[in-house]
Amino acid sequence: MNFLSLLEAKRDGKTLAADEIKALVTAYAAGSIPDYQMAAFLMTVFFRGLDTKETTALTLAMRDSGDLLTFPADPRPLVDKHSTGGVGDKVSLPLAPLLACLGFRVPMISGRGLGITGGTLDKLDSIPGFKTSLAATRIVEIVQSVGCIICGQTDRMVPADKGLYALRDVTGTVPSIPLIVASILSKKLAEGLHALVLDVKFGAAAFMQQFEKARELARAMMTLGNECGVKTRALLTNMDVPLGRASGNWLEVKESVRCLESKPNMADAFAPDLLELVLSCAAHLLVQTGKAKDFHAAHKQAEDCLASGAPRRKWDEMLVAQGADLGAFNRKLALDNTAPVVLELKAATLGFVARCDARILGEVIRDLGAGRLTKDSVINYDVGVDQLAKPGDDVQPSSTLARIHAKDPTQANAACERLKSAFEISEKQPVPTKLIHEVIQ
Ligand code: URA
Repeated sequence: MNFLSLLEAKRDGKTLAADEIKALVTAYAAGSIPDYQMAAFLMTVFFRGLDTKETTALTLAMRDSGDLLTFPADPRPLVDKHSTGGVGDKVSLPLAPLLACLGFRVPMISGRGLGITGGTLDKLDSIPGFKTSLAATRIVEIVQSVGCIICGQTDRMVPADKGLYALRDVTGTVPSIPLIVASILSKKLAEGLHALVLDVKFGAAAFMQQFEKARELARAMMTLGNECGVKTRALLTNMDVPLGRASGNWLEVKESVRCLESKPNMADAFAPDLLELVLSCAAHLLVQTGKAKDFHAAHKQAEDCLASGAPRRKWDEMLVAQGADLGAFNRKLALDNTAPVVLELKAATLGFVARCDARILGEVIRDLGAGRLTKDSVINYDVGVDQLAKPGDDVQPSSTLARIHAKDPTQANAACERLKSAFEISEKQPVPTKLIHEVIQ
């Protein structure tokens, strides 16, 4: 393969053949293409784009650059969910055990957060003893016996994405739809899935802020997933407002457990938006795999399953399988706070919460130490915000808008001051905003 000629062809707007793309990914993964040349190739893709066939070829070549998870034959379909990330997005945590109880196998391979989007693995790292780094054989064993796992990618899975993503990160080529599609789906396809639901966020704190761009990404991922043999649907969900009432690693684990303990009646739920998204993802997967005849029946099935308490017990089973100390976990769960300082931001006037800005909140929480500014930042698992007031909530002058969990009083006061601008109180009750705007199937 002459890489330079492929690079020049793409530069000049030509279409590459699937075997050419496969050859260049294989050569890059083997270390035979220098980073400067691959960086130039990524930039040509950024400007020229890739058509569906080229994107499929890139995705499959990236998937095949390392080990694939292989599972024994089993009537339980293999399913997963992927979210493009947002503030307070903890859906994976309650969803995995719920899906396992609904008769699925769930090899949920997740990532760490960067910036204001929290990572599932960072949240799980706040659980005493819980291991997110496991060998492929152990991942398969746990999925087969427990029904679900939430862990990190092994070193040998999709190595091409690690190298390519690192290059994209420093060459301004992350926001390219075909490159994002290939990066996300190559990792999901390496799990050997039958069905996948994608949660593509738009709004102030989303990776793709504009609705139209997010929809373009959702469509591209849905098309490619299906083309690669995985029944794929995408939900377009709002990320102007944080999901649930807590954000911060341990605080989100606590809220996830509370979600697993919620009553099926959503009006009674502590965080109805979180519950809605968890149940909807489960319901779509039930329909996608033919385990329910329609969305309505599937939703009811998921609600009943959650109400049975089985997913809450499954959560404990998953924790134990992944090495957690259940006694220490339960003791930690019983604590009101694990950060040294807790400070409440109170409403100044009577009215309704009209705005709770996810971007401001995400930045404050990141700066408290819950997120990373760079890949090497050290995470503080205990800090964050809970008891968040959400749009539509009625408040009085002494009502809590948010509770800040911080490492010291100075940090808590600074966060409290910054958080004020995230909220807006109005006299009139705001029109409720939809969480799930569209389902692409
Ligand atoms: N997440 C990924 O895994 N890859 C991308 O390219 C963007 C977001």
